[in-house]
Amino acid sequence: MIRDIHTNNEAVLSQRAVSCVPLLIAKKEEKKKKQPSGLTDAIESEKVVEEQEHIENPWLPYVLELIQDLKDTAENIAENCLGLASNQIWVAENYDQDPGTPPPAVFIMRWPDATVLRRWDWKAIINPLVKPTGKTLKKEESCLSFPGKVVKKSRGKNVFMNYQTEDSYQITPIHLREMQGPYSHIVQHEVDHLMGKHV
Ligand SMILES: [Zn+2]
Repeated sequence: MIRDIHTNNEAVLSQRAVSCVPLLIAKKEEKKKKQPSGLTDAIESEKVVEEQEHIENPWLPYVLELIQDLKDTAENIAENCLGLASNQIWVAENYDQDPGTPPPAVFIMRWPDATVLRRWDWKAIINPLVKPTGKTLKKEESCLSFPGKVVKKSRGKNVFMNYQTEDSYQITPIHLREMQGPYSHIVQHEVDHLMGKHV
């Protein structure tokens, strides 16, 4: 669903995102609450782990819904959008979450994809951990949440990122280099959003 992008809304945009919990762990924790721990419980948990190694959607439904909304909203303004972070469209109640629940740590961004005509598609990055590497570069940056504002921002030329994807909770490492395109810059901008920082 296309959602409104929060503009100049400090209350949401300054909120720090929280890690997305894989469905597997969320279910295990729910189970722990219900049952006293014991051998049977441990065996059951192991079974759940095995079953969910092959799970199709490893995240809680509201996280997947949010990812779809981020993609729909970005696609609607595809020409002007390089990436979109959860904070920018998050309204907890829209996802059946308690009011005030912080946004989950997820953003979407353009990602190279040779199978589509425009050579890129939206990719969801979940629970990213980043470390800029190499020299810093100063570039002009703007943000959909602060229309008209352009700032010069110093960013790492390259970035190491560990992240999870929509279809797997396995951690994927990647080194994005400046020469590959604007990806390392986008990642650093979107991760700032998740930390409650913005331009
Ligand atoms: Zn932004």
